[in-house]
Amino acid sequence: MINHLITQKNWQTQLSEAITSVDELLGLLKLESLITQIYIPKHFELRVPRAFVAKMTVGDASDPLLHQVLPDKQEQTVVAGYVADPLSENDQNPTKGLLHKYQSRVLLTITGACAIHCRYCFRQHFDYSANMPNSAAHAAIISYITEHPEINEVILSGGDPLSVSNRRLFAWLDTLEAISQLTTIRLHTRLPVVIPERLDDALLDRLAQSRCNIVMVIHCNHANEIDAITAEYLQRARTAGVMLLNQAVLLSGVNDSVAAQVALSQRLFGAGVLPYYLHVLDKVAGAAHFDSDEQSASDLYWSLLAVLPGYLMPKLVRELPNRAFKVPIDIYKER
Ligand code: SF4
Repeated sequence: MINHLITQKNWQTQLSEAITSVDELLGLLKLESLITQIYIPKHFELRVPRAFVAKMTVGDASDPLLHQVLPDKQEQTVVAGYVADPLSENDQNPTKGLLHKYQSRVLLTITGACAIHCRYCFRQHFDYSANMPNSAAHAAIISYITEHPEINEVILSGGDPLSVSNRRLFAWLDTLEAISQLTTIRLHTRLPVVIPERLDDALLDRLAQSRCNIVMVIHCNHANEIDAITAEYLQRARTAGVMLLNQAVLLSGVNDSVAAQVALSQRLFGAGVLPYYLHVLDKVAGAAHFDSDEQSASDLYWSLLAVLPGYLMPKLVRELPNRAFKVPIDIYKER
C-alpha cells in the first residue's frame, strides 16, 4: 500500500493526474527491473489512476492489480484466433454510438475515454473516434429507440460513461428519461473502483431522482481493488437507490484461483455489490496471455459452488459474436 498516493482530490483532478509513465509507475512500486518486460503499443498506452496504484503492494512484481495495467511484451505475440474485434461489434452498429445486439437493450458508447487502460480490454482496438455520437447521431439514436418499441433499457458504456462530466452525463439521462418506453438505464463503469470519488454527491443525487431504474454494473476483478474508501462510496450509491452489480473477467495470473474468486465475491458483498458475471476472456489481439481454457474455468466454477452461497456466485459466461445473449459456459461437460 502506498499511503502518500491516497488522496482527497476531486475525481476530475485524479483523472487528469493518472500515471502514464512506466518509469514513474515502476519507480513508485520499486520494481524498476521490470522495465525490460515492457512494450507499449501506440494505440493503447499506459494509464492508471494513482488511487488504484495505491492499492498495489510495493515490491510485488506479481501484484494482481499491477498485472492488469502494466503493458507487457507478450502483447506483441500474434496468436491465432485473437483478433482486433472479437465480438464483431462493427457489424452491430446501426447508427453512430449505438450498438444493438440484445433484443430489449441497446448500448450507447458516449465516450472513448477510460480512467484506466486494462491490458485485456476487448475494445482496445475499437475506433471510438469514428463512432462518437455527434448532435446528428444523437437525434438518430432517439429515433432508432422509439422505432424499436421492444427496447426498454439503455446501457451507457464506452470507454467509461462516468469519465464524462456530470453536465454531459445528466444531459444523456434527461434525453433517455424523456423516452417513455425506457424503464431502465444501466451504467457500465470501472470508475467507482479506480477513482471512487467519481460517485460524488451531485451524481448520486441525480441518479436518486431518476424516474428509471438505475443499475450500475461496476467492473472489479480482484478483492484488493475494494479498499475501505471504495466500499464507502459504493455503499453511498446503494443508499441512493442504485442497484449495484459487478462483472469481472477471468484473468490468468490475476483472479484464476478459488481463493481469489471467493475473496472477490465476499468483498463485493461487503460493499453492497452482487457478483453478476464472470466472463471468460474475449479473444482480443494482444491479450492471449490473460486467457485460461474453458475446462479450467469450469473446474474453478465447480469449486466455487462448493464454497459460496448462490447469491454470491456470478454467472460464468462467454460473449460470442452475433449471439443475442451471453452464452453460459457448459459446466456440466464430462462430469
Ligand atoms: S475500463 Fe473497461 S472499457 Fe476501459 S479499458 Fe478497462 S475494460 Fe476497457
